[in-house]
Amino acid sequence: MSAMELQYDERSWKQALVRGAMKRCPACGQGRLFSGFLTTNNACAHCGTELHHHRADDAPPYFTMFIVGHIVVPGLLVVEKLWHPELWIHFSIWLPLTLFLSLWLLPHVKGALIGLQWAFRMHGFSGTADHP
Ligand SMILES: [Zn+2]
Repeated sequence: MSAMELQYDERSWKQALVRGAMKRCPACGQGRLFSGFLTTNNACAHCGTELHHHRADDAPPYFTMFIVGHIVVPGLLVVEKLWHPELWIHFSIWLPLTLFLSLWLLPHVKGALIGLQWAFRMHGFSGTADHP
């Protein structure tokens, strides 16, 4: 393999992460990554890249909880410290916000993780079988 071929075949993890986070194919950025809320397409309808190799598993919920927790908990503490609102006000702000943020972020985080797996050629994304 020549240096030119190696260069052509490079995969940018940053680009793949952004494309995945936009719920697009990490290879072309055009095809849809998901066919449902969290169900991935087996292959990209635009470029044909196989997407079923991902092994996101429970990483997306973990990172989603991590991110949402780092938004909601400081927000709750700041609001409590500044205005000391009644408990029902806290519940009516933070519970819906937590639910909305979690459900909105989860597919984006899963897409970003699949993009990274593709860029780093993890699992079957290297072109070789998952379990040779
Ligand atoms: Zn594609």
